[in-house]
Amino acid sequence: MSDNNVEKMIIVGSGPAGYTAALYTARANLQPLLFTGNEIGGQVAITYEVENYPGFPDGLTGPELVEKFQQQAEKFGARIEYDWVSEVDFSQHPFVVRTANGEHKAEAVIVTTGATPRKLGVPGEKEYTGFGVSYCGTCDGFFFRGKEVIVVGGGDSAVEEGLFLTKFANKVTVIHRRDELRASKILQDRAFSNPKMEWKWSTVVERINAAGGNGNGTPPKVVSAMLKDLKSGESYDFPTDGVFVFVGHTPNSELFRGQLDIDDAGYIKTDRRYHTSVPGVFAAGEIQDPVFRQVITSAGQGAAAAMQAEKFLGELEAQSYQEVAAEHGPAVLVAM
Ligand code: NAP
Repeated sequence: MSDNNVEKMIIVGSGPAGYTAALYTARANLQPLLFTGNEIGGQVAITYEVENYPGFPDGLTGPELVEKFQQQAEKFGARIEYDWVSEVDFSQHPFVVRTANGEHKAEAVIVTTGATPRKLGVPGEKEYTGFGVSYCGTCDGFFFRGKEVIVVGGGDSAVEEGLFLTKFANKVTVIHRRDELRASKILQDRAFSNPKMEWKWSTVVERINAAGGNGNGTPPKVVSAMLKDLKSGESYDFPTDGVFVFVGHTPNSELFRGQLDIDDAGYIKTDRRYHTSVPGVFAAGEIQDPVFRQVITSAGQGAAAAMQAEKFLGELEAQSYQEVAAEHGPAVLVAM
């Protein structure tokens, strides 16, 4: 089948999985069209330093790595569009992908829309985001030179970002709901030996308080957080200039609800070869992986999904979509 108005391959999302899928499908001469979404490069684009991506022994910044990913994909013919996908229809083939700028059709789609930082859901969090509440140390750390901040969470992100924030802040207090960290040993060792880091165990944030912002032209400014010690049950006001929240992620799968099988936590279900519940639609990276979530694992999954998509398109050269789909049978979807 050959229709000039139908793309061979559309990739939705521009994180490590998306750009790697674009690189592989471009090198397979499929001229992929990648829609970046609003957050170009995904989460790694707001990471200060990446020091565990092989091939870069001295590390590099997240934005530098994203730029290299894009350059490499474009070098082989990938087309990158700065556009946002608003709707998809996978019930017909070719698939339909609608963006802010129009409607596109594709024989195969790879979904790599990633995940977004989870919110605490406490009073003051939403109101004061950008006024002292942040989800990105790399983006906002600079504003907290000489100040005191709190970091909420006990995983790799909280500890890594907390360490990063010590470059600016005088004191970084980590608030964790349990009395042991989930973060990796190497990060824990670094953090425990950093004199600027302090710890509040078995403690949660109940509310974030700000001063100003009463409509008189002065923006609000975070001044404290109401903390609760879960062991004693005591709540108390803890002065702080900023609250950085790193309590996990929510997959960006709303767009695909009703189109693809999605698990209870919102992750797109795939089989071991990155097929989704719809033949010809693949998913890779943090949209389907709640476990590994590394730049290298997402990139690897993007490559694998691209290879499977290429195989699917090869089969489509000789058979109708219905025949290929019937041959594949229903994907055996597994939890990661
Ligand atoms: P995570 O590992 O899921 O950790 C989330 C943390 O937030 C946990 O400590 C959790 O507490 C806490 N938490 C969750 N909901 C909360 C709530 N409502 N209130 C208070 N605390 C809450 O998430 P992550 O740190 O973003 O890491 C995600 C993945 O990326 C992990 O696989 C991690 O290894 C990886 N990562 C790796 C690196 C690196 O290798 N350098 C850097 C960043 C992230 P509990 O511990 O009690 O569950």
